[in-house]
Amino acid sequence: MEVLQKQDNEIFDAISGEVRRQTETLELIASENFASRAVMEACGSVMTNKYAEGYPGKRYYGGCEYVDVAENLARERAKKLFGCEYVNVQPHSGSSANMGVLFAVLKPGDKIMGLDLSHGGHLTHGSKVNFSGQFFEAHTYGVDRATGCIDMNKIEEMALQVRPKLIICGASAYSQGFDFKAFRSVADKVGAFLMADIAHPAGLIASGLLNDPIPHCHFVTTTTHKTLRGPRGGMIMMGQDFENPLGITVKTKSGVRTKMMSEVIDAEIMPGIQGGPLMHIIAAKGVAFGEALRPEFHDYAVQVRKNAAVMADKFIGLDYHIVSGGTKNHLMLIDLRNKDVTGKVAENLLHKAGITVNKNMVPFDDKSPFVTSGIRIGTPAMTTRGMNESHAETIVGLIDRVISAANSDRAEKVCVQVREDVKAMCGALPLNDFGPTP
Ligand code: PLP
Repeated sequence: MEVLQKQDNEIFDAISGEVRRQTETLELIASENFASRAVMEACGSVMTNKYAEGYPGKRYYGGCEYVDVAENLARERAKKLFGCEYVNVQPHSGSSANMGVLFAVLKPGDKIMGLDLSHGGHLTHGSKVNFSGQFFEAHTYGVDRATGCIDMNKIEEMALQVRPKLIICGASAYSQGFDFKAFRSVADKVGAFLMADIAHPAGLIASGLLNDPIPHCHFVTTTTHKTLRGPRGGMIMMGQDFENPLGITVKTKSGVRTKMMSEVIDAEIMPGIQGGPLMHIIAAKGVAFGEALRPEFHDYAVQVRKNAAVMADKFIGLDYHIVSGGTKNHLMLIDLRNKDVTGKVAENLLHKAGITVNKNMVPFDDKSPFVTSGIRIGTPAMTTRGMNESHAETIVGLIDRVISAANSDRAEKVCVQVREDVKAMCGALPLNDFGPTP
């Protein structure tokens, strides 16, 4: 980045600091990953200069012949990866993807049902501080108090009572799989659309390691930057296109016809909620989907899950309480109340020790979102770095050393010691040009 360094030293310094941080510390935030060098080259390419409102072959701007190639490649690769008939790769983020679907099929005030934020759901699943809870009448479901798991009987009971127009399944902090078939059966009973938000486990689903939502859900949304290991962005998919049942029509030369749902979603993304697509990011999505189609990505996804399972077992052995009793995916939510440590304190101390996690509400939490009783830990980034089950066990030991010392006057000293161990561990597995480009 010689040119940037010469022209803007302040931004260059910030980026250099971030490179150092990512290189020398242990990244355990469940929603983060290290994109490959190839993905980042596409992100930093000239495609950022191009306006391309519209879709391939039907743009509102000239000069789109090359961005069309990139968007078509991204679309075709995504369809192959997830086995779906329709995809829109233009949402700028996971939130935009969700907004696109909700605004496309609902009217203001319509009822929706989603997993409560404090039980592992996402802001866009009906939180009052988000568009999803402000434009729509949101009813949120939770996990069972005893098991920490979603109980489909309770979901059905609630759906029959609320009669929502749309049900959202998916989560940001839930370590079990989703029974998409059972969700669809509930949705059908009340005449609701079903949307799966697979932002977190998308890479594991693409690799066939978790239940597949595509055959069961009307809409599937995702981010592209978590387990999928692409650039920061969003995407909307449908297993099969269908005539929209909302009465949305379009004039044709021979009269009027009902729009296909793909047309309704495309129109909601642009011009509905977005303008020009981020063509450099769409090109990078294409690169990432190409990587995810390779056999090595399947091996990666298997290792992500193995590392998480080993970590959860080891934590349980050290008397940590994992919400829902374990993990079937890439993350776990640890309730620290029996350790007498808040999520906030744990996050801060682990940060000092060179381990990055995030504090997280646990179901039925008695603390505020700024304090919380838990931390969320994920294995996508450490696995990209080349870490395996033995590293996973070592990491749990390091985290336990920090948390066990949290309420003692040794806390700061332990953090300094653990930081050295973390640095050595990371030094032994350097991020090769940031990521696994072959
Ligand atoms: N959906 C889920 C389940 C998420 O976990 C997230 C992000 O963490 C999002 C949507 C939103 O993605 P973004 O941050 O790209 O808007």
